[in-house]
Amino acid sequence: MAKYTESKCRLCRREGAKLFLKGDRCFKGVCAFDKRPVAPGQHGMQRKKISEYGLQLREKQKCKRIYGVLEGQFRKYYEKADRMKGITGENMLSLLERRLDNVIYRMGIGASRSQARQLVTHAHFNVNGKSVNIASYCVKVGDVIAVRENRKDNKFFAEVKTMKVNNMPKWLEFNPETLEGKILALPVREDIDITIKEHMIVELYSK
Ligand code: SF4
Repeated sequence: MAKYTESKCRLCRREGAKLFLKGDRCFKGVCAFDKRPVAPGQHGMQRKKISEYGLQLREKQKCKRIYGVLEGQFRKYYEKADRMKGITGENMLSLLERRLDNVIYRMGIGASRSQARQLVTHAHFNVNGKSVNIASYCVKVGDVIAVRENRKDNKFFAEVKTMKVNNMPKWLEFNPETLEGKILALPVREDIDITIKEHMIVELYSK
């Protein structure tokens, strides 16, 4: 599976925004974007006039990077969203939110989406009683997501059991004591707290 391997902090500096790709580190005084909020490279300090196309492109890159999705797969999310009823941009964000790695992150089990993805690919979870190790698995209403029985005692999940549930999106529930959660509803735009102008991504792809 192809994956992005460059520095995550470089991506924030490229996009001119904190994308919160490194978990706890993003909230401490060591954030590279807080220290140097300019684009990486020799000409990062230069101010350039960005075209409308450039703005749309940056918005798409930002969204891809937040969810850790590469171009081909991202485009498929757009195409699927375009075939659905409703507003294409909002459908696309909802599909991205429904990825299993994102759900694990939103439940607070992983400190970042990349950590959550690693937990999923290492087959730590069951969905509706069956092991699922596909990060892009698309959850649906009523799905029950649980840490597999034989993983519950490992050190990482022992710590998760003691965590306090804060800011859980209303479309999800998670019980740290039982290490089990449920999809209560499909996420809608107001549930998704990322500052993306999704209509610009739709404009870019519909050219
Ligand atoms: Fe981005 Fe987090 Fe790195 Fe800050 S610490 S630049 S928010 S990935």
